Amino acid sequence: MTSIKKRLLRTAALCLLVLLTLASLGGCSASGNRSEYVSDTQSEVGTREPQAPQPKRPRVALTFDDGPHNVRTKLIVDELNKYGYHATFFVVGNRVDGTEYRGGDAMVYAAQNGNEIGIHGYTHEMSVKYSSCSDERYEYEISNTARAILEKLPDYEIRLMRPIGGAISEQRVRESPYAIINWSVDTLDYTFRSPEGDTEQIDAIVQNALADVSDGDIILMHDIYNNTYEATVIILARLHEMGFDVVTVSELLGEELSAGVRYTRGKNN
Ligand SMILES: [Zn+2]
Repeated sequence: MTSIKKRLLRTAALCLLVLLTLASLGGCSASGNRSEYVSDTQSEVGTREPQAPQPKRPRVALTFDDGPHNVRTKLIVDELNKYGYHATFFVVGNRVDGTEYRGGDAMVYAAQNGNEIGIHGYTHEMSVKYSSCSDERYEYEISNTARAILEKLPDYEIRLMRPIGGAISEQRVRESPYAIINWSVDTLDYTFRSPEGDTEQIDAIVQNALADVSDGDIILMHDIYNNTYEATVIILARLHEMGFDVVTVSELLGEELSAGVRYTRGKNN
């Protein structure tokens, strides 16, 4: 073989090697595309399979006693609206139809925004315990609060009552046309009401509300204090971050809700 032929053969062999290498690279690339395609197809098939039920979001009920308050109740409702949350307001009758706190319109505003209204008492005299007061006084407190609510909210279906201080005799629970709602978390917010705007006081309310919060809790607060409003702003933001829904007591208890029964919390999801 001449040296020219040898050089030609070497060149041809080199070209063949280059072509084979290119083909092999192309093959890898094609194979890569194919595997992507398969995986896309599998994921498409996956989406057609029945969906597993989504885990339910944990829920709590925020409850506000002793209002309504013409300013603070409305501010709390506006804050709830930012998240699509709803709370329950256990109102004092003479703060609905009387001049103290001038809260009647605030109660209507709360109800119009999807919040629940329940009975607390008409005068909120701490010496009047539903566990021991006379039948006449008990009837006066409850029926006058119901009347005050219905004067502002005709046809409203009142389902809930929270006794002053949570105290009520078992017989009155059984005979009540309302579900009796106590609580599982006490924020003790009334002890942190002054000085107003004090960060430590507000943080204490937030801590009490959230330190051990869990699915089904009923949280006790009072919508007449500025620090409670400031704490509520933080509590709602944290509950939202934690993935909680904030619902009314009737929503929390659902089908379990029954007149003549006392509840301290909802059941877990
Ligand atoms: Zn109260």
